Amino acid sequence: MSRTSILVLELESPSWNLFMKKLRWFPQAQIEIIPCKVCGDKSSGVHYGVITCEGCKGFFRRSQSSVVNYQCPRQKNCVVDRINRNRCQYCRLQKCLTLGMSRDVLTIIQLS
Ligand SMILES: [Zn+2]
Ligand SMILES: [Zn+2]
Repeated sequence: MSRTSILVLELESPSWNLFMKKLRWFPQAQIEIIPCKVCGDKSSGVHYGVITCEGCKGFFRRSQSSVVNYQCPRQKNCVVDRINRNRCQYCRLQKCLTLGMSRDVLTIIQLS
């Protein structure tokens, strides 16, 4: 088992403190290979407490900054991936929240 896969396994359990503890042991560059937890696109760092891409970071920020009332046109079980992430804002936001994204968590790691 490589060091990278160890890091990925740890991240599967959404424990921010554990993540921060582990992070000290791994070079930041290794985070780059972990895809966005929301849509699977290439992540750009940890945003609002979750590893996400720039697109999902911006989406979550917008969803928090104004009064939004997303509606799901389907059964609230839309696929949220790189291709379909813009099709349903409701389900995308739900996935963000399920993964533990929070506006209270500042971006503390910004990869170039
Ligand atoms: Zn994403
Ligand atoms: Zn939906």
